[in-house]
Amino acid sequence: MKLRVLGCSGGIGQGLHTSSYLIDDDILLDAGTGVGSLSLQEMHQLKHIFVTHSHMDHVLSIPLLVDTLFADLQEQPLLVYARAETIKILKEHVFNWQIWPDFTELPNKEKPSMKFIEMNPGEQVVVGERCIEMVNVNHTVPASAYIVESGDKVIAYSGDTTTNDDLWNQLNKRSSLDFMIIETAFSEEEVELAKLAKHYCPGLLAQDLEKLKHNVKIGISHLKPGDEQHIFQQCRDKINNKHVLCHLASGDSFQI
Ligand SMILES: [Zn+2]
Ligand SMILES: [Zn+2]
Repeated sequence: MKLRVLGCSGGIGQGLHTSSYLIDDDILLDAGTGVGSLSLQEMHQLKHIFVTHSHMDHVLSIPLLVDTLFADLQEQPLLVYARAETIKILKEHVFNWQIWPDFTELPNKEKPSMKFIEMNPGEQVVVGERCIEMVNVNHTVPASAYIVESGDKVIAYSGDTTTNDDLWNQLNKRSSLDFMIIETAFSEEEVELAKLAKHYCPGLLAQDLEKLKHNVKIGISHLKPGDEQHIFQQCRDKINNKHVLCHLASGDSFQI
């Protein structure tokens, strides 16, 4: 399984893009600003987007992507998977003909260029060789993580979350875990803000990682622009060194 980091920052700036991860050539986990770094040819290979939650930094590129690919989506619509609450928010607040056209009705309702597919936590979707499971997490809006399995390899992507049990329980049910992308949006000094905004800071993440039975390579994501080195160093200081930490950057590629 190939994993390419298109965006993993908590914000934007030169070289910084928000959350989006490409699995092989056809699956996106979230569609933040990072999608814009794909070539047109690469965009045309995208068929499935698994959305963790409705926040702008994770969905911003979906409207523009559908518009860009529109002519090509007449045969096979772009499939956007999310929980029901997330789909409702996207329909009401983005694809509402005011912020953006409703591409689930274009060019017509019978053969639209985009389809929302509702998933519930615990459900799995099989796409070719890959099986993608949705897991409930704990954020300010209904939010999910995804566990992606291909052959005997397993990766997990947390989306945005703070302290929770579901993600760790689900991961502990797996016999192995090869790679994990997890957010740490705030520094240790901002622990109260992290709790309020329902994100992790290094200390909260370190506590939750004690629940995980696997030793795993962890890509730290969603760091606040300008504070990345500081937060990452705090992760190194706080997190059990049985895990290998990796400071993700846009453009990183992994073969898992
Ligand atoms: Zn969020
Ligand atoms: Zn976010």
